[in-house]
Amino acid sequence: MSNTDSSCGSCGGGDCGGHEDGDRSERGGHACSSDATGGCSSQAVEPEDRLGEYLEREELSKSLKGIQHKIVVLSGKGGVGKSTVATNLALSLAESGKQVGLLDVDIHGPSVPALLGIGRKQVVTKGEKILPIMCGGMKVMSIGFLLPDDRSPVIWRGPMKMSLIKQFLKDVDWRALDYLIIDCPPGTGDEPLSVAQLIEHPTGAIVVTTPQEVALLDVRKSITFCGHLGMPVLGVVENMSGFVCPHCGKTSDIFRQGGGERMAEEMGVPFLARIPIDPGLVLAGDQGEAIAKSQPTSPAAEAFGALADAVTKAVETPKGAGSERPSQASKEGDGAVMRFAIPLANGQLCMHFGHCEEFAFVDVDRETKTIQNQTRIAPPEHEPGILPPWIKEQGADLVIAGGMGQRAQQIFAQHGVDVLVGAPAESPEALVQAYLDGSLQSGENVCDH
Ligand code: ADP
Repeated sequence: MSNTDSSCGSCGGGDCGGHEDGDRSERGGHACSSDATGGCSSQAVEPEDRLGEYLEREELSKSLKGIQHKIVVLSGKGGVGKSTVATNLALSLAESGKQVGLLDVDIHGPSVPALLGIGRKQVVTKGEKILPIMCGGMKVMSIGFLLPDDRSPVIWRGPMKMSLIKQFLKDVDWRALDYLIIDCPPGTGDEPLSVAQLIEHPTGAIVVTTPQEVALLDVRKSITFCGHLGMPVLGVVENMSGFVCPHCGKTSDIFRQGGGERMAEEMGVPFLARIPIDPGLVLAGDQGEAIAKSQPTSPAAEAFGALADAVTKAVETPKGAGSERPSQASKEGDGAVMRFAIPLANGQLCMHFGHCEEFAFVDVDRETKTIQNQTRIAPPEHEPGILPPWIKEQGADLVIAGGMGQRAQQIFAQHGVDVLVGAPAESPEALVQAYLDGSLQSGENVCDH
C-alpha cells in the first residue's frame, strides 16, 4: 500500500483535503473524491498493486474465517478503563467456556500484557504463524510482547501501524475462536481506523466511558466514528460508575452515575453495563491479575460477568429476534417488498454516487416483481461515511449506481446492502424494470480508477 493510499484510507473518506495537489488535479471537472461517503476514488492504482491488495485481503479473510465474533473496544479518551474492560470482558467470556482471543493494538501504550501479568513473555513463531501467548485460557497478542523493554517508546506513523495490525490479524495463529476482543487506543486515530478497514465484517464496537460529561463528549465522537465506518455499535459501558464501599456495601456516586446510559439512549445505541469503582481493580491490575479471575465475587468482577452476558446476548441473539431495528423495506425472506436506492442528478442515475442531488427509493413486490411506488429523498450533507448507513436506514436492499469507490462498497457490504455498479444514466423506473427483466446493462465502475 502506498503512502498516498494509506493517508487516503486514514482520513476515512471526506474530500481528502490533506492530499497533495496532484490528487485533486486528477479529478477533472467533477468533485470526485476518494471517500467512504460513496464518492469515487481518483487515484491511479496499478494492476499489480491491486493484485497484491487482493491477495493480502484473501489471506486476511482466510486467517479470520474461524473467528466468529470480532469485537472492537474503543473509548473517546484515555484513562477511562478501556483496557481494563477489554481484558476483563475477554476473561469473563473465557471463564464462561468461550474460545477467546485478546488483541491489544494500543501500539503506543500496550497495557494488556501488564494487566495480565505476562509482560515478560516472548512470542515465538511456528512455520509462518506467530503463536499467541496463552493466559487464563485465552490467546493474547500485543505489541508489548515485541518491545525490548517497558521504556521503549514506539515512534511509528500511520502506514506502519496499519501494517503491524494487519500482521497481527493475518499472521497470528488465532484458529477457531468464538470471540476476538480487540483493545484499541483511545480516540479515533490510525489504529481503530485500520482495524475497521482490515476486518471485513466486525461484529461491532463496545465504547467505554466514565459518567462525567467531559468523557461523554468524547465518546459521542467514537459512536459517530463507528457510524462513518459502518461498524455497528454493540453498546456503551459506563466504567467507574459509583463506588461500592467494601465495609458497608453502600454505593457512593463519586463521578455521578447514569451519564453513559443517558448518552447511549440519546445516540440510539444500547447500554451494556455499569462497572463500579473498585480499589481491588487497581491493585489487581498493578499485580498483573485481572479481577474477573482473581476476585470473582467482587462487585467489579460481577459487573464484568454481567457485561459478558450482555455482549453474548447482543451478538448471539438471531437478527430480527427482539431487534429494535425498524423493518422498513425488507431483506430476502423477511418481507414482501424489496427496496432499491438509486442516486440521481436531473432525474437520471448520477454517475458519481457521492455527489448526487437526491436518491430515488423504489419499492418492488418480490412476488409479482412489479414496482409499487417510488419516493425521492435528498441525502444528508456530504460527509465521510454518511451515505451508506443513511441508505441502510432508509431500508434499501440494493443500490444501483454508476460509479462508486471501493471503500463505500465495503461499507455497504458491512451493512448487508448489495451494490450494483456501472449502470447507465437512465431513469430509476427504467433501471429497476431492467433489473427485474434481467436486462440491466452494468458496465464499467466509472469512479473506480
Ligand atoms: P485506558 O485503557 O482507558 O487508558 P486503563 O484500563 O489502563 O485505562 O485504566 C486506567 C487506570 O484506571 C488503571 O490503573 C486501572 O486499574 C484503573 N481502573 C480502571 N477501571 C477501574 C475501576 N472500575 N475501578 C477502579 N480503578 C479502575
